[in-house]
Amino acid sequence: MIPASFFRRLLVKALASRWAVPALCALLVSALLLVLYISLKAKIVDSHAYLQTPVLVLDPGHGGFDGGAVSDDGTKESDLNLAIACRCRLIAELFGQKTLMTRDTDDARTDFSHYSEHEDLVHRAEMVNAVPGAILISIHQNDFPTGQPSGAQVLYASYADSDRLGTLTHNNLIRLLDPENRRVAEPAPKKLYLTSHVQCPAILVECGFMSNNFEVQKLGDAAYQTSISLVLVGSLLQFLQDSEIR
Ligand SMILES: [Zn+2]
Repeated sequence: MIPASFFRRLLVKALASRWAVPALCALLVSALLLVLYISLKAKIVDSHAYLQTPVLVLDPGHGGFDGGAVSDDGTKESDLNLAIACRCRLIAELFGQKTLMTRDTDDARTDFSHYSEHEDLVHRAEMVNAVPGAILISIHQNDFPTGQPSGAQVLYASYADSDRLGTLTHNNLIRLLDPENRRVAEPAPKKLYLTSHVQCPAILVECGFMSNNFEVQKLGDAAYQTSISLVLVGSLLQFLQDSEIR
């Protein structure tokens, strides 16, 4: 067996050589570059996980004790969100698209004294982040102090490709359902917990305004809910097809 002293002598000799410092520097730089490359590659593969096994995660906003915005006629936002999300699930499954819902009933997970909106959102974010290949569509309705504003608007997360999904979905909603709508797709504000805390492409769709009585009537109509759902699911399928081509 070669004695340890042999290696010690070899190391001392190598360090004494005039190439020792440049060689060590080159070795260090190569190692750093390798680590950087591996971590970047892992990130790229991870951020496109949805291309291998996309799962549409539908999140009907609010629910249970939290009805969200309530219209003049007593319609709860949470009920409209759930009705549209359930239609999206049906349509997506017709097209063979795997889906998951953060809730599919109006039941609260805890009793009222323990209910916390923040905890509910934390739980939803954890659900989404546990799904490999998730793409999140969170469904909500808008609200305003006056009854005038109307029209859908899509907000997109900062996670990779969310802007592309958001802009595509928003433009389809306007083109197909409401050509007079002058709103544009926008980045979701950081304070929106769910879109800020999920690690996947994610959008939040405000389908219309609870404060606009005419729009609430439309949003409560089953045929209109189906139309919105068709546009949302169709946009997702278009997004996935575009992503594969890229
Ligand atoms: Zn809402």
